[in-house]
Amino acid sequence: MSEARYWHLQDDGKMVCELCPRHCTLTDGQSGFCFVRARQGARMELTTYGRSSGFCVDPIEKKPLNHFYPGTSVLSFGTAGCNLACKFCQNWDISKSRQMERIAEQADPETIARAALRAGCRSVAYTYNDPVIFAEYAVDTALACRQLGIASVAVTAGYMELEPAAWFFSHMDAANVDLKAFSETFYHRLTGGHLQPVLDLLKYLACETDVWVELTTLLIPGCNDSDPELDALTRWVVREMGSEVPIHFTAFHPDWQMREWSRTPIETLLRARRIALDNGVRFAYVGNVNDWRGAST
Ligand code: SF4
Repeated sequence: MSEARYWHLQDDGKMVCELCPRHCTLTDGQSGFCFVRARQGARMELTTYGRSSGFCVDPIEKKPLNHFYPGTSVLSFGTAGCNLACKFCQNWDISKSRQMERIAEQADPETIARAALRAGCRSVAYTYNDPVIFAEYAVDTALACRQLGIASVAVTAGYMELEPAAWFFSHMDAANVDLKAFSETFYHRLTGGHLQPVLDLLKYLACETDVWVELTTLLIPGCNDSDPELDALTRWVVREMGSEVPIHFTAFHPDWQMREWSRTPIETLLRARRIALDNGVRFAYVGNVNDWRGAST
């Protein structure tokens, strides 16, 4: 366990987490919605610090990042838990895990950095579950990586308050951020979160940092794939982030609480790409429908 940042104590003695827009209030011994940030007396602990749910060497294009050291390998790892509750989660065995056995592998930041170097990786990716909730562990690993000339990549849903985000992303070199839809209804009903904080974070990353950003939108039939929504989403990206920000459209497969839903047809991905290009997005990609794991949280 390690002490966590970004919280305060209220006058009534409750602890408020300031890391993500959920602002969980915790009494002693309680964990937040993400399950991994927990109050112990007058401090907050990150219970997954130094523990990983697994490692994998991937091509960087699988994150997906097509414009960040293309052709190189990345060491991917994650922990457990998540601060969203996506009914369509494609990594639910990790993100919904509340069993610490799932993250039994001990891995301190220096060990991860050295392992990446040994494996010939140009970067380390904080992925599988959202690194926002294990920010202290990811940042310490990023610092160890920088010492060895290895870059850091956050694969995230971008559901984070801006003050901790400024600290977190100052240690990241690249990010793939999910823009899961362009409607508050979708975010509210299918993720348990809200759209505006994600848009605020994306604008911040594009306008006020040097982090290389690419976006991913997982298209779910009938939920976020209409022409008007894709038109509005891609226009917003060009207007607020710029035409050089690549967008990856990826395919949903039935999973977690949406097992009865149909898969995304390739025609939908190609239609989304066409809309993006017509609206001025310079790089719009169609994800491999079979290569979903680890591509996006
Ligand atoms: S990071 Fe976790 S504990 Fe903090 S507000 Fe978000 S869900 Fe709650």
